[in-house]
Amino acid sequence: MAVTHRLRSRLLAVLITCVMMLSTLGGLAYVVSGAIRSMAFSADQMDDARALSAARGALAALKKQLSATIRDNAYWDDAYESLQKSDAQAWATENWGATTADYPLYDTAIVMNADGKPLIAYHKGIALGDAETERFFFGNLSGVVTAARNVDFADDNLPVAFVKTRDGLALVGAAAVQPSVHAAFDIKTAKVLLFSKQMTSDVVAELANTFSIEGLVLSSGAGDRAMLHADALDIYGREIAKVTWPPMHPGTVSYDRVRPALITAALVLLTLLGAVAVSGLVVFRGLRNSERIATHKAGHDALTGLWNRAGCLEQLDEKLTSVVREPCITLHLLDLDGFKPVNDAWGHPVGDKLIKAVAARLSANLPPTTTVARLGGDEFAIIGGSETDDPSMPLCQRILQALSTPFVIDGRTIEIGGSLGWAEADADVSDSTELLRRADLALYEAKSLGRGMAVFYESALDDEAFRHAELEQELRLGLAASEINVVFQPLIEASTQKVSGVEALARWTSPTRGPVSPDVFIRVAEKAGLIDQLGLQVLRTALRASFSWPDIGVAVNVSPLQLRNPYFSRKVKEALEECRFDPARLTIEVTEGVFISNPEQAKRAFDALRDIGVKIALDDFGCGYASIGTLREFGFDSMKVDRSLVLGLDKDHNGGAILQATVALANALNLPVTAEGIETEDQATAVRLFGCERLQGYLYSKPVDAAEITRKYFTPDLARVG
Ligand code: C2E
Ligand code: CA
Ligand code: CA
Repeated sequence: MAVTHRLRSRLLAVLITCVMMLSTLGGLAYVVSGAIRSMAFSADQMDDARALSAARGALAALKKQLSATIRDNAYWDDAYESLQKSDAQAWATENWGATTADYPLYDTAIVMNADGKPLIAYHKGIALGDAETERFFFGNLSGVVTAARNVDFADDNLPVAFVKTRDGLALVGAAAVQPSVHAAFDIKTAKVLLFSKQMTSDVVAELANTFSIEGLVLSSGAGDRAMLHADALDIYGREIAKVTWPPMHPGTVSYDRVRPALITAALVLLTLLGAVAVSGLVVFRGLRNSERIATHKAGHDALTGLWNRAGCLEQLDEKLTSVVREPCITLHLLDLDGFKPVNDAWGHPVGDKLIKAVAARLSANLPPTTTVARLGGDEFAIIGGSETDDPSMPLCQRILQALSTPFVIDGRTIEIGGSLGWAEADADVSDSTELLRRADLALYEAKSLGRGMAVFYESALDDEAFRHAELEQELRLGLAASEINVVFQPLIEASTQKVSGVEALARWTSPTRGPVSPDVFIRVAEKAGLIDQLGLQVLRTALRASFSWPDIGVAVNVSPLQLRNPYFSRKVKEALEECRFDPARLTIEVTEGVFISNPEQAKRAFDALRDIGVKIALDDFGCGYASIGTLREFGFDSMKVDRSLVLGLDKDHNGGAILQATVALANALNLPVTAEGIETEDQATAVRLFGCERLQGYLYSKPVDAAEITRKYFTPDLARVG
């Protein structure tokens, strides 16, 4: 799971890098284009402001020019005096009226009397009558005239303003005609000189040219809103017309000019962003893929492709802690029966194929809503839910049924069953650990009941497990207190009917529960790791007790687990030396479990035992998988056929044939055979005929204590069989 965590952070790093690069480049592009646009906009605004002040300056310059011209002509001693005389009209016509024909600075000249009537009025060299003058200016001159009569001598600002005329718009200025130096005169009755200049298109064009305002025109209406403008005001400050011109937008023009380059740059940037995004995506996908693979690997079994232990528990925890938890979650643990022998007999490749076949069989035969996992070895787990709970065929039955058809692996037909333990998650189960513990307990119980059993977890199992733990504790104390006794069962020579040996059998009477069967306490000792200690106690006791029995052999049972201890043979040797017991008289009885679980280790242990001179017998032959081949391979000194084979004698004819063949084969290998469990004379006769050299069973004696053996067989007067 650490792998996926590392991948996930790498994924995040790629994602963040991509997003950061994209947003940085995108942001940069946005800022740059925004800056260019705003530069263009402010350039436009600046140019508008410049044009506006140029237009206003142009109008002001025009006014100033007219004002200066009027001042030159009105503040003039000759003019003032001449206008007092009788030929005033002729003088005015000659000096001002005539000049209107072609003078560039004005095109109209009027001299206004105190009564408001013109002394003279000329427009472009042609005299205008009183009424004509009035019509030409639409009677708008009085304001300018009145203003002219209010001007101080020192005041430079003569009244100059725009007026509407018959021909359009004109600029008009006025001043009272007066001496050129300050003198006393009545300004209120003085004659007023007016000059005006028509704002013809030529005038406007010249203005535009001088002040570089392209497209400047005179306009009187509301005008185009997109156009810029400067107001033309009358003498009262009212707007009567305007000069307008189109905005130049130099910024926009430049912007438009560089736009193709900008678009190209944007496209390049976009391509770059695209490339970054695509490569980010590719890396992202790659990482996500490897994350998927890593997650799958971490949670799945490489051999079968099923969920593995970690994945199974994760799935189970997810189900158990889900907000909407299913009402019925079950966990079935399946342990294959007889898988180990298959593995041992045909090797791991066949074992692996069988495991794969079982996985495939389970996946194919169980409802798709179940989760199938391999916990390890030959153990499988199946997680079921409410929807998999079919009352007509419970899941546990389906599982065992799935295994009922034999498997064909590399041409071999292999029959294999399973033991099943299962538990249902009740309200007390909040996580996988507890459900697994319960199913495990049930599986343990199923296995102890024999093959092909399914056991459902019930709280009674917990009680039993508790009792088991109690028993274990008691046995521990019992061992420390030397409560383990040894009894002996004689082995009778078939040919002579004499005792040729004894088998030592452990006995334990618990102070609280009374006698406990060795089948029970030996298993408890094996599970609790007490078997080494127990086994040696039995060995020592047996050796000590049988020291005084001359010449006969002593057989001691040894658990496969004891042989796993590399110091076992040394301990045996020490015990032999301690009791000064002849190693040749000792036989170690082992069951086939020894060479099935670890043949190499068993061989080493046997060799070490043989080195010290101890014999080895194969116990319980015929009830398991051990073959004649194994007998040869491991070089046993003798063999004991299992009681079940002897019992078979009474049942049918076949039973006898099997026993006979077995004994014959062992004899062919020069292996003396002992028959156990002889209870009747018929059995004794039969096995003797088949070739068994030694007999053991209740017919001769039940296991008895050492004193009884001594009394029965080694007290001179009583020494006899039975
Ligand atoms: P086993 O080695 O096969 O021992 C023979 C068992 O068969 C003994 O049971 C014995 O009492 C019983 N038996 C002998 N003759 C007859 C008969 O004619 N009829 C019947 N019905 N039974 C007969 P026991 O003493 O209960 O021992 C059971 C098993 O416990 C032994 O089977 C052996 O595997 C194990 N065991 C006993 N003592 C020891 C020990 O010190 N160490 C180890 N590792 N295992 C022991
Ligand atoms: Ca035995
Ligand atoms: Ca036996």
